[in-house]
Amino acid sequence: MGKEVRVRFAPSPTGDLHVGNIRTALFDWAYARHTGGTFIFRIEDTDTTRVTDEYIQAAIDTLKWLGLDWDEGPEVGGPNGPYLQSQRLDIYAQWAQKFLDQKDAYYCYCTPVELEARREAQRAANVAPGYDGQCRDLTDAQIADYKAQGREAVVRMRMPDGGTTFTDEIRGEVTFDHKFVPDFVLVRGDGSPLYTLAVAVDDIMMKVSHVLRGEDLLSSTPRQIRVYQAMGVKPEDYPTFAHLPFVMGQDNAKLSKRNGEVSIAWYRERGFLPEAICNYLALLGWSPGDDRENVTMKELTELFTVDKVHSSPARFDMKKLEAINGDKIRALTPDEFLNWSLPFLTKAAVISGTDAEIAVVKAALPIIQERIVTLAEVPAMLNFLFVKNFAVAEDCVSKVNDAAAKSVLTRSISELKKLTTWTHDSIEAALRSSLIEDMGLKPRIAFGAVRIATTGSNISPPLFESMELLGQEVSLQRIKLALAL
Ligand code: GLU
Repeated sequence: MGKEVRVRFAPSPTGDLHVGNIRTALFDWAYARHTGGTFIFRIEDTDTTRVTDEYIQAAIDTLKWLGLDWDEGPEVGGPNGPYLQSQRLDIYAQWAQKFLDQKDAYYCYCTPVELEARREAQRAANVAPGYDGQCRDLTDAQIADYKAQGREAVVRMRMPDGGTTFTDEIRGEVTFDHKFVPDFVLVRGDGSPLYTLAVAVDDIMMKVSHVLRGEDLLSSTPRQIRVYQAMGVKPEDYPTFAHLPFVMGQDNAKLSKRNGEVSIAWYRERGFLPEAICNYLALLGWSPGDDRENVTMKELTELFTVDKVHSSPARFDMKKLEAINGDKIRALTPDEFLNWSLPFLTKAAVISGTDAEIAVVKAALPIIQERIVTLAEVPAMLNFLFVKNFAVAEDCVSKVNDAAAKSVLTRSISELKKLTTWTHDSIEAALRSSLIEDMGLKPRIAFGAVRIATTGSNISPPLFESMELLGQEVSLQRIKLALAL
């Protein structure tokens, strides 16, 4: 691509950032890091009715949490700021005035009701709907008349006849016939700028070299190029466009809440790790060149090039994300796993966070690290170690109070009482020789009853390790309790 790389992620935070937004942010970030370029984070908040301060802050937090650090933008600043469009309104107003002076733009006095009536007529006549140019060449008298009527004026960009052709790095040459790109609004009646004006002005003023963004914005490109022309930018200085493929849900429908497009905050609460989210999203429309599925952030920055981005839609697959999350959890060091798990345990009120509790958690985590897919599973897995009023789960009671189970528990008590060392090996040896070899029981039956008695449930971490963690006294107490049910 040959020029100094400056890419931007420019969300309009009208809600929490979701999978689609972050896939775009990730690709921009990876491209900047791969090329040694600059990653700009710009907040497009000109639609003040829908963007809130809370959502802006949430967007900032989400990017930080994911590890997508930016070189210019909110909090870090930079030489091309401010990076919130709401703080750049003067700049847009000046450019709009220049376009009016140059006659690239004009005031349009048509009311919404009139516009709708004419659109209706266009539909009836089967012509492409869009502004019909009515106010393009108003006389001074007409303007005076509209003003006297107290009409508000919007600023509209004049689209010349012909078309716009540009090369998209992913899609190749793309042409838009201006028959389908009518004169468009740059500034609303209340003086506020529209997206097309602000985005184009900022991309030029922030010296953005490459616009990597979702395919849904492909059709706004000819309008943006029209703004560059009016700004007097030479074609060789236009940013290069690369429109990333759509992300579809598992059912091949456009991604929505129903089939996966939920906010990154949602995944965070459910115990997905940032590296897993980034790893998985990286594979949505890009591949490292081989079929590996485990990609670290470092590898992503080493390998990311736009020519490996696909043009066909990517499909969101929750199962694959979960599998990657499980891999990333297994790859954590003991301390990392502890630090990620503690907030989940305290939030679920399994522990309050005392040093003694943390020591138990630390000892217990290795036995579940291989078995979980999300961090949100940790509280249920470790609850048996901390529960104050221990009781066997209701749906398991019947499995420990029949005659067969009672004989298993009775025998277990007498064997376990005798143990002088309490390790998972000694527990296992004692129970195997008595329950399986002597009594001739199937492991599932024998150990199932002991598992329910000691942990309260038939889903728990490995049994002998769990009993070792519980200690001899508590284990025996619990088995006696189950026996008395
Ligand atoms: N602010 C726009 C959005 O969130 C994206 C702007 C762009 O990438 O060109 O949809």
